[in-house]
Amino acid sequence: MSIASVYNQVKNSLNSNVTLIAVSKTYPEECLQQAYNAGARDFGESKVQELTRKYENLPKDITWHMIGHLQTNKVKYIAPFVSLIHSVDSLKLLQEINKQARKNNRTIDVLLEVHVAREQTKSGLTPLQINELMAMSELAELENIKVRGLMSIGTFTDDESITRSEFEQVKNLFDKYPKFDILSMGMSGDYQLAVEYGSTMVRVGSMIFGARDYSK
Ligand SMILES: *Cc1c(COP(=O)(O)O)cnc(C)c1O
Repeated sequence: MSIASVYNQVKNSLNSNVTLIAVSKTYPEECLQQAYNAGARDFGESKVQELTRKYENLPKDITWHMIGHLQTNKVKYIAPFVSLIHSVDSLKLLQEINKQARKNNRTIDVLLEVHVAREQTKSGLTPLQINELMAMSELAELENIKVRGLMSIGTFTDDESITRSEFEQVKNLFDKYPKFDILSMGMSGDYQLAVEYGSTMVRVGSMIFGARDYSK
């Protein structure tokens, strides 16, 4: 099936209150253009250099999402145009995003990346660390960022009960903060389940674009 038809199929399966992000990391620009032609406007990338290149070469009405680990020294490259940074995991990074947003006369929306998965290697903050960060007075001083909600990456597993329990933990944390309005949860393998648990933004890559080739 073509990129356009799978994109439309996934899109049509979702309620209008759920944003579908086409996760286009590693795929060539022609593939993004095909999804764009089918109506996709939200794209997710995980590397700063690739994101910046694609931003420059593709239509300017695209909403760009940074979903990968972000180093503070690279924030400046995406600050002029990025719409939402999903992967914030420290106060230091928030402070840098705030600084670069101010330089660009913007407010940048961000999500805090929450870690509930079992794998130790996964990045993100534990629910306890998120509560601590949200309580910091330094956070309130950052006028050029807006913390809109949470992003989570689940354990890679076939065991649905693990996925459900993780989604539930993330949703419970999300509900503690009435100001939050974005819950970025769910990927190709589990986005329907994520929506059941209140996800408002799903990040779907390989299902739309096909198997990824990381060597590119
Ligand atoms: C790659 C990636 C996705 C998309 O994964 P698929 O399984 O290809 O849908 C979603 N979220 C993050 C953070 C990613 O890095």
